[in-house]
Amino acid sequence: MSAKVRNVQNEYLRRQEAKESNARTYPRHFPLVISSAKGITVTDTEGRTYYDCLAGAGTLALGHNHEVALEAIRSALERQIPLHTLDLATPLKVDFMEEVFSLLPEELKDRSKIQFCGPTGADAVEAAIKLVKHATKGKSVLAFHGGYHGSTQAAMALSGNLDKKQHLQSLLPDVHFLPFPYEYRCPFGMGGGMTAKLSARYIENLLDDCESGIAAPCGVIVETVQGEGGAIPADLEWLRELRRITAERNLPLIIDEVQTGIGRTGRMFSFEHAGIVPDVIVCSKAIGGGLPMSLVIYKEELDVWQPGAHTGTFRGNQLAMAAGLATLRYIREHDVLLNVQKRGEQFMARLGTLKEKYAAIGDVRGRGLMIGVEMVDTAGPKDRLGHYPPHGELAAAIQRSCFQNGLIVEVGGRRSAVIRFLPPLTITERETEEVLDIFERSVAEALASADVASAPC
Ligand code: PMP
Repeated sequence: MSAKVRNVQNEYLRRQEAKESNARTYPRHFPLVISSAKGITVTDTEGRTYYDCLAGAGTLALGHNHEVALEAIRSALERQIPLHTLDLATPLKVDFMEEVFSLLPEELKDRSKIQFCGPTGADAVEAAIKLVKHATKGKSVLAFHGGYHGSTQAAMALSGNLDKKQHLQSLLPDVHFLPFPYEYRCPFGMGGGMTAKLSARYIENLLDDCESGIAAPCGVIVETVQGEGGAIPADLEWLRELRRITAERNLPLIIDEVQTGIGRTGRMFSFEHAGIVPDVIVCSKAIGGGLPMSLVIYKEELDVWQPGAHTGTFRGNQLAMAAGLATLRYIREHDVLLNVQKRGEQFMARLGTLKEKYAAIGDVRGRGLMIGVEMVDTAGPKDRLGHYPPHGELAAAIQRSCFQNGLIVEVGGRRSAVIRFLPPLTITERETEEVLDIFERSVAEALASADVASAPC
């Protein structure tokens, strides 16, 4: 590669840095300038190609520029559809809604409503909370340690991460946090099957305790697999217990499917693994086929809010509805969910073997193609369960090494110590092997490098 080409890329990066907010995030880890993208790969202006296991933070279910999504967009443009319609009707919108309803469990299919929101997941979270507040007249909201629901001030209030909140005052009040069944770092110091059991008992007791200090909750919001929290799957029996406990107390259960939804975990909606039906489902990311869209689906008895209770200019993104409709149909008709299950198993099998090899890999976990590898500091003190502390620097070094070797992976979780794989749902067997080859090499390189010498294996 010529120095001239490299200089062009550096020049773009310099110009970006000069103008873009200090709050920018991904460019800090991935200093590339993307010129084109296809499937699981992105190519930069230097002509280097990377495997993209970030996929727009899980947005690109079918990968970059899938022909099905592109064709739907082209055909919508040729028909001269209005690009933007607020919440007015269009044939495309009605078809899209009907496709979404057809994917729901029987109990919701004919007995639920949909609210289109401003196009981010956070706005749909805001809408969901307003909805249940209107319906129940409850004040407080119950959320979970380690959860993530977005970056607006209410969504942030519902999220666990303290770093981002510490300089903000007056976020959404009356949010109370419950223990998530994170078995590896059990909040009760127990682990094993006890984590989920104790969490369920704790929640049930709290809801019935007239001295709990928590007044009239309006709902519980939960991810079935905590994504940004470090790819932590909730125990399925725990999810069934949470459903039972909330249903018995008429407390709406809001499942945030922003990241887990639309096939990511191997089912169209992740709550299906537990065989439960929530009262409210929050969707975004993949549901727009790669274009911005978010929405809330909820049981019709909750539909007591008044016209205009939740509005937003960009609720009618027609191109997102076209791409989303085509994507949903493709997933339904092409065994994509089966691929997610098989590729998920392939990831877990090889990562499990890698964990045997390196003590610095503390935990490998996930559901479908939402996978996390928690790196630990083997020089640090063990916790009550015999686990080393999370090692964010090592995860960052592996992330850097992956990037140098042509693989883009995200980090998340406590102290950003969890390396996360969120590839397109259409990743092939061969691509999975290649991604894992690069990952293995990168782990070895990072562990051998001087800056993570504090983590000997
Ligand atoms: N909920 C979950 C579970 C998420 O993972 C995210 C984004 N990562 C959000 C909500 C917020 O979505 P957005 O960034 O589009 O606002």
